[in-house]
Amino acid sequence: MVIVMDRQATEEQIAAVTEKVHALGRKVHRSDGEGSIVLGVVGEGANLEPSDFLVMDGVNDAIRISSPFKLASRTFQREDTIVDVDGVKIGGDEVIVMAGPCSVESEEQIFACAEAVAKAGGRILRGGAYKPRTSPYSFQGLGVEGLKLLRAAGDKYGLKVVTEVMAIEQIDEISEWADMFQVGARNMQNFNLLRALGEHKDHKPVLLKRGIAATIQEWLMSAEYILAGGTKGVVLCERGIRSYDNQTRNILDLSAVPVIKKLSHLPIVADPSHGTGIRQYVADLARASVAVGADGLMVEVHNNPDKALSDGAQSLYPEQFDTLMKRCRVIATVLGRNIAPGKDDAA
Ligand code: PEP
Ligand code: MN
Repeated sequence: MVIVMDRQATEEQIAAVTEKVHALGRKVHRSDGEGSIVLGVVGEGANLEPSDFLVMDGVNDAIRISSPFKLASRTFQREDTIVDVDGVKIGGDEVIVMAGPCSVESEEQIFACAEAVAKAGGRILRGGAYKPRTSPYSFQGLGVEGLKLLRAAGDKYGLKVVTEVMAIEQIDEISEWADMFQVGARNMQNFNLLRALGEHKDHKPVLLKRGIAATIQEWLMSAEYILAGGTKGVVLCERGIRSYDNQTRNILDLSAVPVIKKLSHLPIVADPSHGTGIRQYVADLARASVAVGADGLMVEVHNNPDKALSDGAQSLYPEQFDTLMKRCRVIATVLGRNIAPGKDDAA
């Protein structure tokens, strides 16, 4: 951080700022320029907040020059991180598609969805067993029963599985059944949960969804919590942010993809299902996500969306998902990337 002192700042005011920096374990490099005195903060230590200095007498400006997130930052690690989800690699040339229903509802439903996902070329089966519902009266998920069904369906069709973890008490159980944890938008700043996932003995990869009103910096700070605990496999997921416009459920912020690529080495996937909330728009935004450089997609697919217990309106019919995959594959190829072939394509 650099602190610019006011032209009229007194030596006492400069000393007060210097003492505050020292108290935070850092050193000050002072340079007296023409008309202004600049205090450069040097050395390693806790993050300093510009606002703590801006309120001090004699301070004209305080500017952060290094990012507050270290482990997640491109400055810390130049090369892209590739996250290994039990053999499926996110962040390389292959654009990884994770798909499945919003919630695991029954054996018949999850097996039918898994079959459709695998047939179209999806690599990871998604499905919530613990659901963060806005209303306490809505379907809350099947719990451990749902985890077991998800695992069985994934195994039958050669898919890895990802599912949402909502609470620290669920981590051990989910780790037993899933290949990847999903942290939902509503829990992006549940710092205790993030820390516990980072420190968990299994160090399973985490899909960290962006909070509904989170800035990119806040999102990366949340990733930092997980990385700080020792779990290296963090994948960011842009799932749309709140807007004033109600034509879509959220605004899928595609600009987040190149911004994240610049600021961080972590892979980023896009979720056009929650991003739009409307089935009709999902495929177009999926293509746009691949075009803008997303390392993967998360798409909600249901064997019978009209009867879905959650997010039916944004869930694709299996045929629609298949078409989406074919169209996204074309975009990926143009970019020198690839999406796994569907079962029919491979034949
Ligand atoms: C979900 O993936 O079904 C979900 C609840 O997502 P989000 O946390 O992005 O709302
Ligand atoms: Mn959903």
